[in-house]
Amino acid sequence: MSKNSYDVVLIGYGPVGQALALMLGQQGRSVAVCERWVERYPLPRAVCIDHEIYRILSANGMGAVLPEISHPGPAYQWFNAAWEELLVIDWQAESISGGTEVNFVHQPTLEKAISDAVDRQKSVDLYKGWEVVEMGQDDAGARVVIRNDAGGTETLTGRYLVGCDGANSIVRKEIGGAQEDRGFEADWLVIDVLLKDGVTIETLGVPPAGQYCNPLRPTTIVPAGVRDGKTFRRWEFMLLPGESAAEMEEEARVWDLLKEWATPEQVELVRYKVYTFRSLLAAEWRKGRFLLAGDAAHVMPPFMGQGMCSGIRDAWNMAWKLGLILDGHATDALLDTYQTERMPHVSQIIDLSIYLGKVICMPDPAHAAERDRAFKEGTAPAPPPFPSLTTGMLHHASSGELAEGAGLLAPHVSVQAKGRTGRLDDVVGLGFMLITNGKDVRESLGESALAQLAEVGMKYFPMNTGDGVNRFSDLDTRLEPFMKTHGWEAMIVRPDFHIYGGESLGGATALVADFLKDVHAAGVLEAA
Ligand SMILES: Cc1cc2nc3c(=O)[nH]c(=O)nc-3n(C[C@H](O)[C@H](O)[C@H](O)COP(=O)(O)OP(=O)(O)OC[C@H]3O[C@@H](n4cnc5c(N)ncnc54)[C@H](O)[C@@H]3O)c2cc1C
Repeated sequence: MSKNSYDVVLIGYGPVGQALALMLGQQGRSVAVCERWVERYPLPRAVCIDHEIYRILSANGMGAVLPEISHPGPAYQWFNAAWEELLVIDWQAESISGGTEVNFVHQPTLEKAISDAVDRQKSVDLYKGWEVVEMGQDDAGARVVIRNDAGGTETLTGRYLVGCDGANSIVRKEIGGAQEDRGFEADWLVIDVLLKDGVTIETLGVPPAGQYCNPLRPTTIVPAGVRDGKTFRRWEFMLLPGESAAEMEEEARVWDLLKEWATPEQVELVRYKVYTFRSLLAAEWRKGRFLLAGDAAHVMPPFMGQGMCSGIRDAWNMAWKLGLILDGHATDALLDTYQTERMPHVSQIIDLSIYLGKVICMPDPAHAAERDRAFKEGTAPAPPPFPSLTTGMLHHASSGELAEGAGLLAPHVSVQAKGRTGRLDDVVGLGFMLITNGKDVRESLGESALAQLAEVGMKYFPMNTGDGVNRFSDLDTRLEPFMKTHGWEAMIVRPDFHIYGGESLGGATALVADFLKDVHAAGVLEAA
């Protein structure tokens, strides 16, 4: 242990704590992470990450390793008992962030890659094998008491404390407030296997990624990532009424369930465990210096593969806000926007996950037949759309309505800028970004606006301007068409890649003025 006083103390070193430690470490913040276990949790839960998370992790120094430890997702097909397709989610489609919508990972391998990246952050101290047993806060800071197996105790302090401490979070209990139960609950046996040499999904005859909505035994069949050239696959079987976790976790039972799909000659069992899938949302995500992120704030059924992704989004939303506060560019009122922005977003993802859960968790054949008919006749309710940001520090029209396009994710593209080529995030950098088409509007913004923009770290990408090596261009030609669809020639993108708002070139000065008004209202550029 090197010291006891930090910018931020994190409790929990699961994937969300790791991601937040990496983001804060990349900013050079001093961070203490307290994790009760010395070894990483060995059992994979998450199997996929979406394009936004891929971009976030890449932007935090993992761009080289991610292609080595992940693979693009196939189409995600939902079948009825007769193997007729009910619905399909196009995970192969080109995403707004570049690359496929979804990539598959082996969670322990992903977690190792993130923690290897954290190990390279000199300002992050890991307290592994230390459990947080007590916490408190006052005007001066937050404080935790940690205890190790040998009974030793230490006290750490931080300006902020973030509970990334999972579904049974003690920070959530300390913050207080209700936990809304959205009412979905189902027990599933999760089995991970390793394909033996020469075995493929073709030889097994299973869909690349599918939900087999057979009421006799609702079953999930998905990739579970790769490691050292070895392929992991996952089966999940819903427990039927009367079945207990204990009987389902018997090895003989596991092989019995798998026998329709794979034999011991074809696959090696890696693990099997019964999980209860639930849908819970904390009502309070912050109390003073205490904040929640990840499963501590929300859990959802895994049918959309979004639990960990949502937690990493929490971390990314919080990290830039903590950065502005710790640099003295914002008061901690900015943290009020954290829950305002993240909660409705994750709430909609919970709805989407429950929608999918209700399609498959249907053990009654009569109900399943009704469901099949509704999908066949096109009368089944459509899945809720994948959300964008709808609340918080976003551009609003004079009517008070959210401005068209505000809150969407901005496209990520390859660019030429500053005499270099590469991904926008790497070449132009991270932070707020003003992207304009055909003109650099800086000369028309005025000294005061430019000074304030400089203070929040605004970056500029005046696309289609300059000559030769000094040209700014979008090598993928996706930004300009995207902006045109919204009638924009200027757009401000937030550090978390969500769009603050957009305007014509003529409206750029007014857009910047609104932006500055909104950031001031959120506590940015206000004296701390
Ligand atoms: C079967 C299944 C499949 C899933 N598939 C996906 C998927 O494909 N994609 C996806 O995005 N998500 C998926 N999820 C969800 C995902 O696994 C979780 O959302 C994610 O792992 C939560 O991460 P976390 O860091 O918030 O919490 P956790 O991983 O639970 O980590 C919390 C950490 O805090 C530590 N801790 C707790 N209390 C203390 C204390 N007092 N002191 C010190 N340390 C403490 C714990 O030891 C633990 O290491 C799936 C979940 C399941 C069950």
